[in-house]
Amino acid sequence: MPPRRILIVGAGIAGIASALALSRELAPFIPDLQISIFERHDVLSTSGGAINLTPVAQRHLDQLGVLAELDKMGPQGGADIDGIEMFSSRSGKPMGTVSFTDRNGNGYDGYKGRRVMRIILSVALMAVVKRTKNVEIVYGKKLVKGEQKDDRAVLHFQDGTFAEGDLVLGCDGVHSATRTLWVDPTCPSEYTGISFVQTALSAASIKSPIHFRGTAMNVSRHGSLLTSYCDRDREELFVAAIVEFDEELLPFYRLESGREWRTKHIIKQTLGEEMRHRFGKSAFPCIREITNQPTDWMLYPVYQVPPKARWYNDRALLLGDAAHAMPPRDESAAYALDDAILFARTLARYRFEPLPDIFRAYQNLRRETVNKAFKVSQRMWAKNRDMGMLEGRLKEWTLPRTIRSQRGAREAAWEFDATKIDIPFSSEDLVLESFVKEFSLY
Ligand SMILES: Cc1cc2nc3c(=O)[nH]c(=O)nc-3n(C[C@H](O)[C@H](O)[C@H](O)COP(=O)(O)OP(=O)(O)OC[C@H]3O[C@@H](n4cnc5c(N)ncnc54)[C@H](O)[C@@H]3O)c2cc1C
Repeated sequence: MPPRRILIVGAGIAGIASALALSRELAPFIPDLQISIFERHDVLSTSGGAINLTPVAQRHLDQLGVLAELDKMGPQGGADIDGIEMFSSRSGKPMGTVSFTDRNGNGYDGYKGRRVMRIILSVALMAVVKRTKNVEIVYGKKLVKGEQKDDRAVLHFQDGTFAEGDLVLGCDGVHSATRTLWVDPTCPSEYTGISFVQTALSAASIKSPIHFRGTAMNVSRHGSLLTSYCDRDREELFVAAIVEFDEELLPFYRLESGREWRTKHIIKQTLGEEMRHRFGKSAFPCIREITNQPTDWMLYPVYQVPPKARWYNDRALLLGDAAHAMPPRDESAAYALDDAILFARTLARYRFEPLPDIFRAYQNLRRETVNKAFKVSQRMWAKNRDMGMLEGRLKEWTLPRTIRSQRGAREAAWEFDATKIDIPFSSEDLVLESFVKEFSLY
């Protein structure tokens, strides 16, 4: 019997995109399909700053109807980004561009890059959920246990309630409870050693000339500073430092609710000093000015999931960051969307097969690509560690060549379309192939 009741843990990008993609792919075959998303927060989370959407992410959001919602929001729907301009923060010299357009300046199938506040993207996702008949979001449901009972999956929540279904998708992010309490307790998230220190401010508050068109990465030997517009009218600036940060210091910087205002004030002040220390001598006057502003810097420690993590058991599959959170390089949201669309298509095609075979078939389609991306992200991420003067100069010297040499691979990546990946009609061939692959992965 194909699954009729699907339970999704987490209303982030992976969770909502999975629900929308499953509704589209399965509803024609299963009229009484019911998809419930369980989210631990009581309301839509407003934290998280701005996110860059690559051409692939935009293509997939368009296919799910979300891009149209973003466009309806006018200037708040995000700033169009042709590429990330790279600069040396020390010398002010340009070092190349990570381009989201082809060599003629056109987008891929018309899609370029877009930087948008996370909360705006969530509102757009929610608008599509609202008009999708067989999808509901239930808030205030923090998963504390998952189990299989006979042929059903059961989710238990912190408030004492539970839900039963045929299939669970764990889309609950890097620290996923679905993973750590049920699918693979041996794989907790691990700190990458690097954190984001970020803030948003009004562009009008910066009097010095701004040296970039849409988004810039200002590279230094003390980490990199991302500076970007995040609205179409270029009124809002998003600034994020990607810097080495000692794990032992993290508990002090946690801005939990309930902390005294005085502690919060000290945290913000200390982060401001850290930013001035790292970027206060930049060659760019606007960066010096930003680091001297009395703005609220927030710390986001970046975690990853070890690439050896299991992705599924008999009833549950992990998608998005829950399965493969990697150091961000502006592409992880796209991976979450790719996962959602590919899994929905795989499930629709093999809906009469046993779930573990479907999960294995999906993993076979996906795991190699994700593992490769993880390795590339890790290599790039390491370049944000603190360095001595000589190593810093070497980084500045080699970066332009690295950007140029990776252009072909990026162009191929921007063409990716999860709706066009060939899923063989016979699951038997795919399952056999996946046995061989899985054996070589572990
Ligand atoms: C600092 C930073 C900057 C980034 N910048 C970019 C960028 O510019 N571009 C890009 O593409 N990617 C970026 N990423 C990565 C990107 O944010 C993630 O890959 C993407 O959000 C993954 O989506 P997700 O739905 O898998 O997880 P999440 O977005 O983390 O969503 C998980 C959801 O599950 C909920 N949840 C968690 N635990 C439970 C539980 N126990 N019970 C119920 N619900 C639960 C959470 O509240 C949340 O709503 C960045 C990541 C970081 C850390």
